[in-house]
Amino acid sequence: MIGGIIGDIVGSIYEDGNMKSKDFPLWGEGCHFTDDTVLTVATADCILKGGRFEDYYYSYTSQFPSCGYGTNFMKWYFTRKFRNQFVPYQSFGNGSAMRVGPVGWGYERMTDVLDKSRDSAICTHNHEEGVRGAQAIATCVFLARKNESKGHIKRFVEEKFSYNLDCSLEDGQKNHKWNATSMQTVPQAITAFLESDNYEDCVRNAIAIGGDSDTLACMAGSIAEAYYGVPSELREKAYTYLPEKIIEVIEKFEFRFGK
Ligand SMILES: [Mg+2]
Repeated sequence: MIGGIIGDIVGSIYEDGNMKSKDFPLWGEGCHFTDDTVLTVATADCILKGGRFEDYYYSYTSQFPSCGYGTNFMKWYFTRKFRNQFVPYQSFGNGSAMRVGPVGWGYERMTDVLDKSRDSAICTHNHEEGVRGAQAIATCVFLARKNESKGHIKRFVEEKFSYNLDCSLEDGQKNHKWNATSMQTVPQAITAFLESDNYEDCVRNAIAIGGDSDTLACMAGSIAEAYYGVPSELREKAYTYLPEKIIEVIEKFEFRFGK
């Protein structure tokens, strides 16, 4: 889970000032955790304690307000707060894929990973693209931590989810306008991983694409963590940006489900 969170923190300052290059300070001035981190930790906490994903997304948003949540997500939040109703909003944004990483760690069978990633998505992202994006990222995390090769992961995702993973990172950089849809950003995040040499290189690849940097790096970083592991100095640095409550859940989750 820390792999996605580092991506979010590192990418946070490049969303509005896109880098389009891999040469940038990893911990740039003003970088911070955003909604990607909060909702990823909410997913992990739900897997640890049981219950419904939507209750955790609501509760974590209450505890950590002002973290850059999307407009529609905030409408969802206030509908729950003032009308006591959860109303999914047919989203095909990448919000369901950015928070799903822990699902790839929390279950031992592919069918469970697919079912639970669907559950985690549909409470907000009940559009089929929102579900597909979440399932694809969780599947990549699952296969990577099971030591499957990049070639296997690529073929599996292409066959199961019909994403085109043949466009290179360079193509993505050239063509990328700011876009936060699942169908565009999920395959790009997976490509950032497939073309990487190590964990940090993957995060740099994702940010070099441009666009929705924190979420691209969060999704790609989640997969890279499962495949390469995360260097301890990066983890320690990330902790300096995080509140105690979030670190506690990360440690509990990784203790129970880590490699
Ligand atoms: Mg964000």
